[in-house]
Amino acid sequence: MNESEKRLNGYRRLIEIARDLASTLDLDILLNRIITASVDLIEAEAASILLYDEAARQLHFQVATNLDLQTLRGLIVPLEGSIAGWIVTNRKPVRISNAHVDDRYFPKVEQITHIPTESMLGMPLITKEKVVGVIEVINKRSGDFTTQDEDFLQVLSAQAAVAIENARLFQQSDLIAEFVHELRTPLATIGTAAYLLLRPEISQEQRESIVQNIHNETMRLNSLTSSFLDLARLESGRVQFHLVSFDLHTMVAECIQTMQGKADENHIRMSLEIPAEFPEVEADRDKMKQVVLNLLSNAIKYNSSNGLVEVVAANSPDSWSLFVRDTGIGIPAKAIPHLFQKFYRVQASEGKVAGTGLGLSICKQIVMGHGGSIEVKSRLGKGTTIILHIPHRLRKENVREISLAQTETR
Ligand code: ADP
Repeated sequence: MNESEKRLNGYRRLIEIARDLASTLDLDILLNRIITASVDLIEAEAASILLYDEAARQLHFQVATNLDLQTLRGLIVPLEGSIAGWIVTNRKPVRISNAHVDDRYFPKVEQITHIPTESMLGMPLITKEKVVGVIEVINKRSGDFTTQDEDFLQVLSAQAAVAIENARLFQQSDLIAEFVHELRTPLATIGTAAYLLLRPEISQEQRESIVQNIHNETMRLNSLTSSFLDLARLESGRVQFHLVSFDLHTMVAECIQTMQGKADENHIRMSLEIPAEFPEVEADRDKMKQVVLNLLSNAIKYNSSNGLVEVVAANSPDSWSLFVRDTGIGIPAKAIPHLFQKFYRVQASEGKVAGTGLGLSICKQIVMGHGGSIEVKSRLGKGTTIILHIPHRLRKENVREISLAQTETR
């Protein structure tokens, strides 16, 4: 391709992206298209987009052409002492031919990615006067970055900024609308209950039952609020996963102990079968605990009286799996595809068993954050098994490195 063909091809790509901007609201898809186009048009080795977290005064990688999701998720760049930070603070592009001799350069990212940065072109992403992030293109294939490259990146950065703004507005309105909708039922119940309490004619017994009702609904609001916040944070991609090696048996045993009271109340027996020689696993222990607690809670809630809950683990060269099996009511086949949707609850359990419909969505986000997957097997009236699969190689040393970087910038 000669120069003018290249330029023409470039403009074509820019127009395609502009069209996509109007038609898809999936932020990661759009941003991925933008960085892929940047690498092609600017003839560079890699490109990435970092989003700016104003409260934490740091940037985190959202997409990159050369990093997997696992590595991306934890990569943090401080506002002070980094080129990306300089771009945010000064709202100006940066074009350099040797990053290593630049005293703004933040070497930690390179230590984690093992991709040396030589030349770099970076541009702020600005929407409505606010800097929302930075797009960076590294290592021009031959020679230095040119003014033409800067022009291309400027157009691409404007597109990325619009994509981010659109997606954020959409996500917020969508999430908030759903949340408000979910708040209405408990609030209406509490309102009615309070009104009834004020009536002189109701008996002491009725009064107690109403107060109990208010208490239950308040508890539900409480768990709805904290689950909603957990999920919103996980979905925003800003939650850090701190990987450690730990003994799976001990962790699951702790969860079983926590849930024992609830199981006893419902006459449910719980068992744990993880062989002593099972290797230590690598994961964010607290978050995996949250997943297991959620699954045990469901296995108890949706069980039948005198039912069983069994937890079993399996190991393979690439991954480990955890099975949480119950002898409960089961899930209708047509409901299974919806289980991981926010606020979704199987109709039969609504009203009978307390819940928010957010537990499994949170589990899925955490499992996906580990690069894993979650599977549901169920037979109506017989029971349900939820299976987690988590890969072994999670680049632990990288994540440790990242947690340190994060504590430093806090
Ligand atoms: P909830 O707070 O309602 O339990 P979840 O997201 O954890 O929310 O689960 C969503 C729905 O999936 C539940 O409302 C229930 O209908 C169904 N479900 C989850 N786990 C089980 C299980 N072990 N057995 C039967 N149904 C289940």
